[in-house]
Amino acid sequence: MKDENCIFCKIGAHEIPTKKVYEDDMCIAFDDMEPLMPVHVLIIPKDHYTGLDDDVPEEVLGHCLKVTKKIAEIKGLTNGWRTLINTGHDASQSVRHFHVHVLGGGLMPRPNDQDWGRFATNADKIYDKDGNKICG
Ligand code: AMP
Repeated sequence: MKDENCIFCKIGAHEIPTKKVYEDDMCIAFDDMEPLMPVHVLIIPKDHYTGLDDDVPEEVLGHCLKVTKKIAEIKGLTNGWRTLINTGHDASQSVRHFHVHVLGGGLMPRPNDQDWGRFATNADKIYDKDGNKICG
């Protein structure tokens, strides 16, 4: 289950070099090439699934999430880390091969509704639960 046009499939098959952090039979983890935090690692299954909108087996999902702890240990994230999974267009998923971001190495703010909504193309139509306009 590989997609010959997928860059992450090529990384999983060692056809494209990366800064590898961890590997086992099911997945490989490597440093993101455009880190958003001092530690920014991507965990990908070796098999191809577009994202959470695909039929990713529970075993693969669970394994990738379990591996976040191994990454945290390897990278010394003793104060915690953030996991992020973007799915599809509206989440700005740029590589359509399921992956888990592991971010850490500093305090990350909790995103609030206002910040998220600001980026939406329909920001002027986003209201909070009381009917107040949030942005725009
Ligand atoms: P997403 O926007 O959730 O699809 O995340 C894709 C991530 O993959 C981005 O953070 C990119 O910087 C990263 N990325 C894309 N190609 C590579 C690559 N060849 N090596 C390392 N990271 C990559």
